[in-house]
Amino acid sequence: MIRFESVTKRYPDGTVAVDELSLEIPDRSITVLVGPSGCGKTTSLRMINRMIEPSGGRILLDGTDIADQPVHALRRSMGYVIQHAGLFPHRTVADNIATVPRLLGWDRRRARSRALELMERVGLDPALAKRYPYQLSGGQQQRVGVARALAADPPVLLMDEPFSAVDPIVRKGLQEELLRIQEELGKTIVFVTHDIDEAIRLGDLVAVLRTGGRLAQFAPPDRLLSA
Ligand code: ADP
Ligand code: ADP
Repeated sequence: MIRFESVTKRYPDGTVAVDELSLEIPDRSITVLVGPSGCGKTTSLRMINRMIEPSGGRILLDGTDIADQPVHALRRSMGYVIQHAGLFPHRTVADNIATVPRLLGWDRRRARSRALELMERVGLDPALAKRYPYQLSGGQQQRVGVARALAADPPVLLMDEPFSAVDPIVRKGLQEELLRIQEELGKTIVFVTHDIDEAIRLGDLVAVLRTGGRLAQFAPPDRLLSA
């Protein structure tokens, strides 16, 4: 479980991006952080893998303060997916997906077969393995991003507006795929979006943030009060 205890983030210029946020993110479920642009969603997400350090409060992972954990071990336990996939442009699809396994010392053959297995899991034709990212559609690039994040089988997936830049039909397909992956693999997923419909469709729990980085609601989608 990931637990935020009165977490605050004040940037050096004085902006309070996250204000006394307390949340319990259960294992093996999808928790969505939703709210308008600038309400602190990305900041909150990036504090979980310590890309950003809180200025107050603490975040516990399975009961241990993440500030006391080595950053590389922490990041290895968390896949990270962003809006424009962030793929390495000069690596093929298969090599992009195999990045972390290769860093972990897997041999080429094992990493490649893992990449092909994951392509299948995220609904990508294995014939795309040798393509480069620019030769893929936006939706396909996001699938590669998800496959890459899953490659070393981390228990946690952090997803920052992963489907926001693709058109609505492709987006729906990606959402369904994510729900299927979640059901099959049982990952703990923290998902950021500004789209309340997406939050309701995907979330087991939905944290509604409002401007100033304060938590307005935290509930299953069917128990959210309309604002
Ligand atoms: P969201 O993901 O909900 O759009 P962010 O977490 O990106 O929100 O930003 C929250 C607030 O913090 C915004 O007011 C944003 O302008 C501000 N902010 C983000 N990054 C920085 C930074 N590096 N320095 C100063 N302010 C920042
Ligand atoms: P989407 O609606 O998912 O964004 P696109 O219209 O961008 O899809 O792409 C449709 C198909 O064309 C995809 O299967 C994609 O792989 C292929 N494609 C797009 N760009 C290229 C390219 N530069 N080279 C080869 N195939 C491409």
